[in-house]
Amino acid sequence: MALLEPAAGAVEAPRLPVLPDAGALNSAHGRMAAADAMALAVRELFPGRIALVSSFGAESAVLLHLLAMVDRTVPVVFLDTGRLFAETLQYRTRLTELLGLTDVRTIRPDPERVLAKDPHRALWMTNPDLCCHIRKTEPLRRAIEGFDAWFTGRKRFQNAVRANLPLFEAEGPRIKVNPLADWSSADLAAYAERHGLPAHPLMAEGYPSIGCVPCTSRVRPGEDGRAGRWRGLDKTECGIHVALGIDGGGAEPRPRGSDTSSEASMPLWKDGKFLEDSWTAVADDAPLPEGRAAVSLKRWRAERDELAARNTPLALLIPPGSDWRDVVPDLARFPVIVLPIEKYGDGRAYSIARLLRERDGYKGELRVTGPYIIDQVPLMRRCGIDAFETNDPILVAAFERGVWPEVKEYLQPAIEGGAEVPAGTRPWQRRRRAAAP
Ligand code: SF4
Repeated sequence: MALLEPAAGAVEAPRLPVLPDAGALNSAHGRMAAADAMALAVRELFPGRIALVSSFGAESAVLLHLLAMVDRTVPVVFLDTGRLFAETLQYRTRLTELLGLTDVRTIRPDPERVLAKDPHRALWMTNPDLCCHIRKTEPLRRAIEGFDAWFTGRKRFQNAVRANLPLFEAEGPRIKVNPLADWSSADLAAYAERHGLPAHPLMAEGYPSIGCVPCTSRVRPGEDGRAGRWRGLDKTECGIHVALGIDGGGAEPRPRGSDTSSEASMPLWKDGKFLEDSWTAVADDAPLPEGRAAVSLKRWRAERDELAARNTPLALLIPPGSDWRDVVPDLARFPVIVLPIEKYGDGRAYSIARLLRERDGYKGELRVTGPYIIDQVPLMRRCGIDAFETNDPILVAAFERGVWPEVKEYLQPAIEGGAEVPAGTRPWQRRRRAAAP
């Protein structure tokens, strides 16, 4: 079920009988300036049959401004994956109003597909290609079905895959127009400054490229601008430009490196050293492998008797926001419990860890995985987390050298020691109690 929201009164124009050839377009207009190319596409090549697809990310304002200069009524398709930063949604509203865009259409993934494939919201971690497929490729394919062409904001400088990006590209039955293909980072910054375009609010916080929350991390000085996207994963693109153009987007991506599972092959820091991880995270609808497998809370509940009869041990994955009290009697069966961290600043895995240790008496391995950063590790350890999946070079170095930042204020009380107030309180409450006579 697509959630496309067309503008009231939008009129469908008839499809062009024969689409222009991308090669011929590049021969005739391939060196055209961005603004001229957009005007040509909107007014002459694809009148009424072109849309712009925008993520309202870090560099989106320039393309949207160029479009607004040509025609504010051209449809702008915005893909809300359900995993975006709140700042991105606010930025969409702000830019839409500022530029006077009259037909911004928000599309979303099919909720039934998401529920079926990603019930725990951890698919980004176990099979990010499939996550992008259901959250991006499928809804976008539906959204652009009625158009002959669409504008993208891709640039050659962004990565090696885009190094030869032309102005016009054939994409199945459509033409993709990349007006900013030959723009540099400096060109974009200069244009934005010249026209007073507001920056995405997260850029000032160290995010030069912004996508979904779980798959976007800060970029350190000297790193490539897109280094924060899918950090630690063998993935640099969401796949929509490949899937829509080459295979029609029909096939579901399989987990990388595995036929049946969603194996995460990240190094694991435990007991003072890095280990080869022997656990395989398994999707709810995938058969279990022979060896050690990590299953979700949902799957454990649904298949408890069958799973409990297995001879090989199981690990349990508890996503943020879960209530696992009904399975507390089973916890001792699991030598490992996996806690996904969805984003920096999300403390729910800490709370789950503390409850598992303090309330439920869990004695096994508590491991975290996800885009956490160096400052979080001391906090996690205080909450009882004792194993860490990571291949972030800064974290790897910190684990190997045992050098950690000093954390001046803890958002979770200590597990042991008795000096701090019980679980569930907040720092300001602790300070107030400490100050009380
Ligand atoms: S970017 Fe990450 S969270 Fe967003 S759809 Fe892709 S894998 Fe999923």
